[in-house]
Amino acid sequence: MSVQVLVLKESAAGEKRVAATPETVKKLAAAGAQVAVESGAGLGAGITDQAYLDAGAQLAAADSSGSADLVLCVQPPPAEAIGTLRQGATLVGVLHPQADQARAAALRSRGIRAFPLERLPRTTRAQAMDVLSSQAGMAGYKAVLIAAQLAPRFFPMLTTAAGTIRPSKVLIVGAGVAGLQAIATARRLGAQVEGFDVRPETREQIESLGGKFLDLGVSAAGEGGYARQLTDDERAEQQRRLADHLRGIDVVVCTAAVPGRPAPKIVTAAMVAGMKPGSVIVDLAAETGGNCELTRPGETVEEGGVVIDGPLNLASMGAVHASEMYARNVYNFVALLLKDGVLSFDWNDELVAKTAWPEPAPEPATAAG
Ligand code: NAD
Repeated sequence: MSVQVLVLKESAAGEKRVAATPETVKKLAAAGAQVAVESGAGLGAGITDQAYLDAGAQLAAADSSGSADLVLCVQPPPAEAIGTLRQGATLVGVLHPQADQARAAALRSRGIRAFPLERLPRTTRAQAMDVLSSQAGMAGYKAVLIAAQLAPRFFPMLTTAAGTIRPSKVLIVGAGVAGLQAIATARRLGAQVEGFDVRPETREQIESLGGKFLDLGVSAAGEGGYARQLTDDERAEQQRRLADHLRGIDVVVCTAAVPGRPAPKIVTAAMVAGMKPGSVIVDLAAETGGNCELTRPGETVEEGGVVIDGPLNLASMGAVHASEMYARNVYNFVALLLKDGVLSFDWNDELVAKTAWPEPAPEPATAAG
């Protein structure tokens, strides 16, 4: 019998994204799956139930997950909802299984084969499945728009009858996927943009987007293309130079992260005190504690005339395109698990094996000779 796929209606507060679109429903059906979508699942992303029906899906009531073999979601379902999944079902989404004990216990007790997409190895082959990248792109874009909205100034240089307005100076802290999108967006708005990162290879990437690389004299390239944690000396040097530089900056967008750790604290309270009144900091790292010491996740605060915003779940603010990208990422990953319309796990495929949680048990060694 063909695999039964269920697309969940997200239940987290403020979450507007959805894990499948009519486009990916059609692709799943073409791969032999029977797709059901929880009624209203797409509304936050502008997708009606009818659009899913037209794409060949069925509609499901909100508590109908009990018969699905493969459940697709964006954020982790609550532990109680996991408890209603079919024993041994497969769950694909951004699941952070270890971040919540009740969730991990629920996944284990139902024998759920979970594929938390944040665990996907970031290899070239995985790029089309990389939800961290696709969603970070939207977050970086929105962070700059929020900054432009909060800043009491124009971003571009303007020559007006009332004289010339100088362009805003924008600094992007961290030039990963979100940071590079932030640089590109701030440039499109006409700002003078600088970026910095501890990975030296970002210099070329920042410059290729029309930004200037801010050299703070610290390099911390780590494994797998990610940053490593800085030593105390490196951090002190970075902070001394940054404090000086921030005095002349109008807008800071923070995006620095180290995987699996709280966000590095880069902009201290003392640095904020040295910034000009009317400056703005948008801290996209608020989700993991923030890059600025004064950031309060989910809030906008003001300190000495400097506005500090700590927005959460920025990808959801652009739910239409974020869902379009997320759903394609999910489909591309799920395609690895579907063989002739049934689920099958190729543990020799590192994308499948390394993403799975719990990790698959190693194959028993076969007796030689
Ligand atoms: P991330 O969200 O973990 O981190 C964001 C950025 O913060 C990184 O560039 C990191 O170097 C930087 N950072 C960390 N500590 C810092 C500090 N103290 N000061 C300044 N900056 C600091 O990373 P990400 O955006 O998800 O991706 C990081 C890298 O992985 C990028 O180079 C990206 O191109 C690469 N990547 C590769 C693939 C692929 O090959 N398939 C896919 C996605 C990402």
